[in-house]
Amino acid sequence: MSGLSVKLKTPHTGEYDQPTGLFINNEFVKGVDGKTFEVINPTDESVITSVHEATEKDVDIAVSAARKAFEGNWRKETPENRGKLLVNLANLFEKNVDLLAAVESLDNGKAITMAKGDVGACVGCLRYYGGWADKIEGKVVDTGPDTFNYIRKEPIGVCGQIIPWNFPLLMWAWKIGPAVAAGNCVVLKTAEQTPLSALVACNLIKEAGFPPGVINVISGFGKIAGAALSSHMDVDKVAFTGSTVVGRQIMKAAAGSNLKKVTLELGGKSPNIVFADADIDNAISWVNFGIYFNHGQCCCAGSRVYVQEEIYDKFIQRFKERAAQNAVGDPFHEKTFQGPQVSQLQFDRIMSYIEEGKKAGATIETGGNRIGDKGYFIEPTIFSNVTEDMKIVQEEIFGPVCSISKFKNKEDAIKVGNSTTYGLAAAVHTSNLNTAIEVANSLRAGTVWVNTYNTLHWQLPFGGFKESGIGRELGEAALDNYTQTKTVSIRLGDALFG
Ligand code: NAP
Ligand code: MG
Repeated sequence: MSGLSVKLKTPHTGEYDQPTGLFINNEFVKGVDGKTFEVINPTDESVITSVHEATEKDVDIAVSAARKAFEGNWRKETPENRGKLLVNLANLFEKNVDLLAAVESLDNGKAITMAKGDVGACVGCLRYYGGWADKIEGKVVDTGPDTFNYIRKEPIGVCGQIIPWNFPLLMWAWKIGPAVAAGNCVVLKTAEQTPLSALVACNLIKEAGFPPGVINVISGFGKIAGAALSSHMDVDKVAFTGSTVVGRQIMKAAAGSNLKKVTLELGGKSPNIVFADADIDNAISWVNFGIYFNHGQCCCAGSRVYVQEEIYDKFIQRFKERAAQNAVGDPFHEKTFQGPQVSQLQFDRIMSYIEEGKKAGATIETGGNRIGDKGYFIEPTIFSNVTEDMKIVQEEIFGPVCSISKFKNKEDAIKVGNSTTYGLAAAVHTSNLNTAIEVANSLRAGTVWVNTYNTLHWQLPFGGFKESGIGRELGEAALDNYTQTKTVSIRLGDALFG
């Protein structure tokens, strides 16, 4: 293996080569200023290794590499070949599932079975967009006999992509897949908390056969490298996933620089609504999975649970028993469902929300405590006796904490479901088809699940209403955000103008 790397070990893979450099032009390189930063293992708080840090100068270098690749051969590459390279990459992810998942669990702390699920979803996503590369089509529009008009879908150019730490590999695939399928080149910044799996995946980019500069991946801090990307004059688009606060900064940076196109996938405070006629076993499983999957670190987490009053008492009793049974612990244990939160900062934020909830007068039905004294483990937590104005009901906690309250009827459910500034996801559990459709159509959210939760699929668009974002990821819709429309209008005949 070329470039910068260290030997690391995971309980599932034994020793492996962990790249530590910035991935620019298909090579791992040091940052210009020679800076590095530590990567922490959230399971035991130890330092795993250090990786090279990108500063503004490295962002410039990476953007130039992407620009050169775009203006050079990539924009002339056949769609068939773009698709083939993405499918190669998908196949390599599939071949390396064990390594990629183990590195993800090591760095992020997610349960290994979930990490394998993430890699499987990366495979699906990359292969899906590989399939799209030669199906991005324009149109001919007839405006009359004197003109021939055609509409092309062209790549935007160099795309800056800034991703979070909750799904490091999956966000990598969601961003890179559609961008590259549509013929763009990218500079992607990973989250400072979780740079490792993306760097391992960079080895596969080279192996898949991508030309240098098409996909560049840098580790670094949001305030430095992220800000440099979003305000860069030679970046044509920025795609961001993360907090609403930073999303606003990204838009400002775009507005204050070259008005680059912006897509944002931000937070949520999604309602999970259970009607009295729902299959209760099924509803409890999905409500549990809705909030505790990925340790509650999901932008679409079902963090506000509403249960129809007739079944509320029964539901809460069974839900708290179910939540208390979730296996929390070592992410490398096959039976673990919930590992540690990603970082000390996130751990502290969540614990302070729990304190806040208690102070506001909400009741802890289960959980509320740290587990152990090493690693960022938190008990699955349910708050009842909440009011809509409480912070724990309005703000994104991004941890294994939900609130639960009652509703009376359909109108009431729709009203509380929509009582948030967010609009990423929602769910309704019912056995009545009319209720399901009426409520789903009335909730202001980008995704509404019926009798299920968190079941995203790369073929289905995902993104936010209201303050949950701008644009869509996944599905055909993502391609709209990575192409721009050009109209070519040709005057026919030889009559002179005027
Ligand atoms: P964040 O700051 O929004 O981080 C997301 C990404 O943006 C990271 O790569 C981050 O870099 C980068 N970033 C930070 N400041 C930036 C700036 N000024 N310009 C450009 N990029 C910047 O999120 P966080 O601090 O990790 O988490 C805080 C909260 O955000 C969570 O509690 C949760 O509510 C929400 N969140 C949402 C999602 C989601 O999927 N929608 C994901 C993660 C977090 P760094 O490497 O320096 O962090
Ligand atoms: Mg980490």
